[in-house]
Amino acid sequence: MTTCPFCGWPDSDVVAVLSRHRTPEGETAWTRCACGSLQSRVIGVAGTQVVARGRPHEVRASRNAHTPGDVPCDT
Ligand SMILES: [Zn+2]
Repeated sequence: MTTCPFCGWPDSDVVAVLSRHRTPEGETAWTRCACGSLQSRVIGVAGTQVVARGRPHEVRASRNAHTPGDVPCDT
């Protein structure tokens, strides 16, 4: 299993699917990680493979938090 190099989120746990396209190999899906990084995935008979990855959209000043996701912590 691979994880996001930016936030460590497991690639198998898809946060958001932006679009899916059928291809001769199977299907290509654009997904967004918990950190905002775009991923291009190829979904074939062998499983899902992340073939391209973008940088996170939001680069926050504070990089202390290691927990992925946007869960509010003021509870
Ligand atoms: Zn990420």
